[in-house]
Amino acid sequence: MEIVLAESLGFCMGVKRAVDMAYRAIERFGDQQIVTLGPLIHNSQEIERLANDGIREAVGDAIPAQGTVLIRAHGVPPETYEDLKARGLRVLDGTCPYVHYSQRKAMELHRDGYTVVVAGDKNHPEIRGILGYINNQAQVVKTVEEAKELPRFARIGVIAQTTISPQKYEAIIAALREKADEVKVCETICDATEENQRAVRQLSGEVDLLFVIGGRHSANSNKLVDAAREKCPRARLIETADEIDPAELRGIQRVGISAGASTPDWMIQRVVEHLQALARDNAPAQAAA
Ligand code: SF4
Repeated sequence: MEIVLAESLGFCMGVKRAVDMAYRAIERFGDQQIVTLGPLIHNSQEIERLANDGIREAVGDAIPAQGTVLIRAHGVPPETYEDLKARGLRVLDGTCPYVHYSQRKAMELHRDGYTVVVAGDKNHPEIRGILGYINNQAQVVKTVEEAKELPRFARIGVIAQTTISPQKYEAIIAALREKADEVKVCETICDATEENQRAVRQLSGEVDLLFVIGGRHSANSNKLVDAAREKCPRARLIETADEIDPAELRGIQRVGISAGASTPDWMIQRVVEHLQALARDNAPAQAAA
């Protein structure tokens, strides 16, 4: 049985960077408390691993009096950053560079007199962070309908939440063009999750069975399964290697692997090793059949 990995799978660059920072922080500053503001990653196994190594999420306002605070990839409003510094804490900025780019673009639009419209979810931490850079002087629209409900403005500058779909952004921009004489569009969508989608679509046409490794409640992992099922009806989600039933591998020539954006490499590796072991166990049976 051949095991084939999708060309792009697992962590996006921003999450990988933040998690790497966490492990470096453990090595360098592990003698004091290290906390993150919000979960560093939406993966319970990785969170548990980090907790075992000494990094926990600061719950509510319970920031320690001293130690290190790691800002996650979504970023934070500038006042949060300044407040942590003012308390004398060491602040490690894990904000994804793409999110920093969106924050800069929002500031530029605001400075140049545009009405800033953000296409995204106003409750998402990334958007709350961006709004903080422009004193919350922006309109946030989640849907085309919300864009259509906006009043007219002289000049609109629009940015997108990094993870919204390009199609939705296009539709919101089209609605905004009816709302202003000038609409300046900033390309702030990150295609990391799209890349995983493209790769799983490609792979699903080449394998008999496909496992997407990811959290049961992870939206992007479930979307990968949906994409894979278009060509590989036996694609399914697993959280860990234990969920693979050896019986389902019988007669399988090629098995594909993909993983959600919050699935760390070590979990992917465990699944691959488990499949390799099962393939070895099944080999005599297949040869005899
Ligand atoms: S912007 Fe893209 S690369 Fe950065 S954290 Fe979000 S999904 Fe990952």
